[in-house]
Amino acid sequence: MAAKGDMIYAWTTDSGVAKKAECGGAVTTLLKYALENKIVDVVVAVKKGFDLYDAVPVAITDAKDLDQTAGSLHCGTLLMSTFIQKYLDGAKNMKVGVVVKGCDLMSLIELGKRNEINMNNVLTIGVNCGGSVNPIQGRKMIKEKFGVDPDKVTKEEIDKGQFIIEYEGGHKGIKIDELEEEGFGRRSNCRRCKYKIPRQADLACGNWGVIGEKAGKATFVEICSDKGADLISKAVSAKKLETSAADPKGIEIRGKTEGAMLKLGEKWRKKEFTALRDNLWDFINKETSRCIKCYSCIEKCPVCISTPFEGRPESYMVRPGYIPSDPMFHLRRFASISDSCVNCGQCEELCPVEIPLALISHAIRVEGDNAYVPKLGAAPYKN
Ligand code: FAD
Repeated sequence: MAAKGDMIYAWTTDSGVAKKAECGGAVTTLLKYALENKIVDVVVAVKKGFDLYDAVPVAITDAKDLDQTAGSLHCGTLLMSTFIQKYLDGAKNMKVGVVVKGCDLMSLIELGKRNEINMNNVLTIGVNCGGSVNPIQGRKMIKEKFGVDPDKVTKEEIDKGQFIIEYEGGHKGIKIDELEEEGFGRRSNCRRCKYKIPRQADLACGNWGVIGEKAGKATFVEICSDKGADLISKAVSAKKLETSAADPKGIEIRGKTEGAMLKLGEKWRKKEFTALRDNLWDFINKETSRCIKCYSCIEKCPVCISTPFEGRPESYMVRPGYIPSDPMFHLRRFASISDSCVNCGQCEELCPVEIPLALISHAIRVEGDNAYVPKLGAAPYKN
């Protein structure tokens, strides 16, 4: 019997899933089991769309359709929580199983607090996340740094600190550090992220720490809740999944890898936040002066739920109809999310005039946490 707190290796018994899966196929198999056995009514996952730069969120009700979602799309920068909020009525009337990265999970929890999502109805299968790559930047990086036509790439993966591509004619890996020094690599919010293993999910699944003969063939699963333990136990009893205790050496390696990633996140925070400090107001003024008031940052933000902005009323501090907007247009938004920005990066990712919105709101959030959280005696918030 699996129990909360266990760390295990898990692998699927389904050869179709094994072929497509990123590691041991545990994520797809568990979701399939949950759907087939009516533990959930619908699964929200991601599948490849037009090509591997096109990650599409899908709501699946027929378990056999889940095979197409196996595998990781590192150029998939979508947010699963807003999909559930908008298209599945916040899981208010159905049970939803969902794959979540750290930012997906933090935003689900924030939406849960705002009664926008019923978390009692949500089964969360977490995937560790070292970061994702913007699809347009990813194509540019592959063309310019790898010297490969991005349309010829058949697979991409992130492994042992490298971004690796397979393409017609070969494969190539370049260290992420090197790519990032040259302005490529992971999105800037992912570089600053310190929530790499989503332990508030029911299960946290990844590849760090799988060593020995199971390397590349099993998923490392950290069991984070009784609900997660129950799902694993049932899937094993039904012979859908096989498991073994994680190798203690693997657990140690995993801890070290996580530690190194957290240090790297801290390094990026220091670099980017310190650069902001010297001329913050000038920076905000200059950058937000490009705003065309498309409202995308408000609509796509999982924590700035749009109630105060519905119907687009402007405040007495913001003149309606003016472009560029008054600086207060963005300052109001930064203020409204200052205690709950989860650094998902959607505001920045989808801004048509490329204002570094996530950088500013993340810096404000971290500043607030650093000022108040230690005084409350709680552990600093890990966003
Ligand atoms: P599978 O059975 O192959 O299932 C994978 C699931 O992930 C599918 O349900 C699919 O829909 C979903 N998925 C694919 N792309 C995305 C996406 N962009 N956003 C949300 N869901 C998605 N593990 C580590 O140990 N270290 C890392 O640094 C790391 N970085 C990752 C970065 C990204 C962007 C992603 C998506 C995953 C990352 N993982 C990382 C997790 C790892 O790639 C595997 O997903 C995990 O080990 C589970 O393997 P599996 O074979 O059981 O999953």
